[in-house]
Amino acid sequence: MIELPEAAVIAEQVNATVTGTRIARAVANASPHRFAWYTGDPAAYNDHLAGKTIGRASGVGATVEIEVEDRVLAIGAPIRYHAQREPRPAKHQLLLELADGTALSATAQMWGGFFCFPRGEKAGSIEYDCAKDRPSPLLDAFDRSYFDSLFDAGTPKLSAKAFLATEQRIPGLGNGALQDILWTARAHPKRKMGTLSDAELDALFRAVKTVLAAMMEQGGRDTERDLFGDPGGYATVLSKHTVGKPCPACGSLLRKEAYMGGGIYTCPGCQKA
Ligand SMILES: [Zn+2]
Repeated sequence: MIELPEAAVIAEQVNATVTGTRIARAVANASPHRFAWYTGDPAAYNDHLAGKTIGRASGVGATVEIEVEDRVLAIGAPIRYHAQREPRPAKHQLLLELADGTALSATAQMWGGFFCFPRGEKAGSIEYDCAKDRPSPLLDAFDRSYFDSLFDAGTPKLSAKAFLATEQRIPGLGNGALQDILWTARAHPKRKMGTLSDAELDALFRAVKTVLAAMMEQGGRDTERDLFGDPGGYATVLSKHTVGKPCPACGSLLRKEAYMGGGIYTCPGCQKA
């Protein structure tokens, strides 16, 4: 699943590749998907988009937001670029055929958002609308006092995973990027927030900032693919690629287990529960 770093990378690739190009035809919901969300009737997307020019793209949480004149496309799913005459994917939830013969397609993974709405309005997607309202961890506005403002009376009882990756506290930070953030902070995903010392909380805050920034600067994680279908250049420390291998810091073998509806990866040497 793409998360905040990959959305930022893909948005910049859209800007460098198709911004300024006119949409010839839009096809939404060609392959119906149980967990694909649209704004209103996907059959109306062509009327909303055809003939209009692709504007600026930006990453908003885990969503790629693309301005299209009076409309906004907010795509929470991987997006692929297709050159002229390159075959389009057999299945997709959104396809934009462009006037120069190139195309963009977007395909849901486990789920996907393919919102198209008038500029200035809300998308109706909790994830995207929250991300529009909150400072991105990639920006200076996400500072230690903002991080502290995310704490409330219930926070001490939450695990570190629940605190960072649920309830849209930090939109776009999901169960993927989470693993390396917690490893960098030397905090176990099950660790209760109330048990973290001031120094550990500071390490957690700094890890949120530095790890997400590194993932973005290096083109996204190596477990995800970019606009051109290439894996990102950020080598994940903890992911499906590294489970069972030695920890680069201490040499312990990296583990995977199920926790809170998703796998967690940990180093038994660096992260104590
Ligand atoms: Zn370790």
